[in-house]
Amino acid sequence: MKIINPATEELVTTVQEDNAASVMLKFEKAKAAQKGWAATPIKERIACIARFNELLVSEADRLAKDLTTEVGKPIGQAKGELRGGRGRSVYFVENSEKYLAEEWMVTEGETKEKVTYEPLGVIANISAWNYPVLVGVNVFIPALIGGNAVLYKPSEFSTLTGLNLVGLLHEAGVPKDVIQTVIGGKDAGEALLDLPLDGYFFTGSYNTGRYIAERVATRLVPVGLELGGKDPMYVCEDVDVKHAAAAGVEGAFYNTGQSCCAVERIYVHERVYDDFITEFLQEARNWPIGDPMHEGTAIGPLTRPQQVAVLEQQVKDAVDKGARLLLGGNRAGRNGYYFEPTVLADCNHTMQVIMDESFGPIIGIQKVKDDAEAVALMLDTPYGLTSAVYTLDRERAERIMVQMNSGTVYWNCCDRVSANIPWSGRGHSGLGSTLSHQGIRAFVQPKSYHLRG
Ligand code: NAD
Repeated sequence: MKIINPATEELVTTVQEDNAASVMLKFEKAKAAQKGWAATPIKERIACIARFNELLVSEADRLAKDLTTEVGKPIGQAKGELRGGRGRSVYFVENSEKYLAEEWMVTEGETKEKVTYEPLGVIANISAWNYPVLVGVNVFIPALIGGNAVLYKPSEFSTLTGLNLVGLLHEAGVPKDVIQTVIGGKDAGEALLDLPLDGYFFTGSYNTGRYIAERVATRLVPVGLELGGKDPMYVCEDVDVKHAAAAGVEGAFYNTGQSCCAVERIYVHERVYDDFITEFLQEARNWPIGDPMHEGTAIGPLTRPQQVAVLEQQVKDAVDKGARLLLGGNRAGRNGYYFEPTVLADCNHTMQVIMDESFGPIIGIQKVKDDAEAVALMLDTPYGLTSAVYTLDRERAERIMVQMNSGTVYWNCCDRVSANIPWSGRGHSGLGSTLSHQGIRAFVQPKSYHLRG
């Protein structure tokens, strides 16, 4: 399989792709190794992950360089992702033991009752490329700590990063057969779906996630889906407009707009609409597009070549329907899959840029007259990952946040994820939770003991 640098369109290297037979072999090895791993005391499993966390620090520069080379993520953001991935992994090291310990529910009387948490077995982790370290860590770290074996298929667009992470896990002491990479795209993923695994944990698009859930439904094993979003931000009239605009630009353009929880549409109260747009444009011009290996670059290429045409189509559709194109709108005139940071104003809900996941450095802005209109528009989506509101008034923010049908809500912040609280999507944004105590218990199954005697 060819690894292409999206910033130059040049070949980086080639790697051996898996096929059905090699995936089957990996599965058999994983199955044989899983019981021994589950029998390893949890403290030792956690100690392996703690060593992995140290390696993430000492190997950060090499990993960041590979990540930028294959994904096109600006190098400063690649280093930031590695720090963030380590932070999440540290959370699991510090918190897993207490959430996986046996719990005594009834200790008095004739029948005592307790719960233990057992691993699922051998699970598949089919992963995405946009934050390959973060979304990988969300799944394979708690799965390993919980005593599972993992067949981890990094996205075909972030293969080197996947191989690096698994290499470090092995170096840290996780047995080679307990976590193995499955290399390739759709076909390698299908090979995993053909096997009788004990759980499927997927990060990626709604279409693929739904397909996977349907494909394995009759097995009645756990399925976790972390899918896309069309996340709204609402700017009330009482805010510091400059500050809100800067937050909106970062939410929309960080990681070249390729974040599941990127700000994908902005509603602005009519009283500050024009000011907000002026400030937004001024801030957006401070986000330089360029070579992702340069420390000063804020916007790199898109990772997937096909997304350039999707963004062009969204711009055309919006302009045809009356939006004002205020910045960008075109592929950049250079090698690589670059698209200019793009701002569209006067958008509405007939436009693709407001209704479909963009996954690029493009934003649609729409004027609203009051909170009721903003709430109705924010809810007009099949997705439900995050929703953000900017206002000085906490009660007003809370009134809006309780009405949101999304797994995460933000007041005066956006586009952020914390290991301490669950990360979950509703509707087309997914099923189940990662991170937090819920994400630790997502990879184990309870066993309830009724004890007499
Ligand atoms: P994708 O659906 O194209 O691919 C995801 C993974 O599925 C890849 O590893 C791919 O090889 C594999 N795959 C594709 N077809 C398959 C099949 N038929 N059977 C089995 N596996 C198959 O998604 P992507 O482009 O890698 O990721 C981008 C999407 O992921 C966006 O929608 C983004 O919002 C979402 N995402 C969500 C979160 C979250 O936490 N909610 C995080 C990151 C990304």
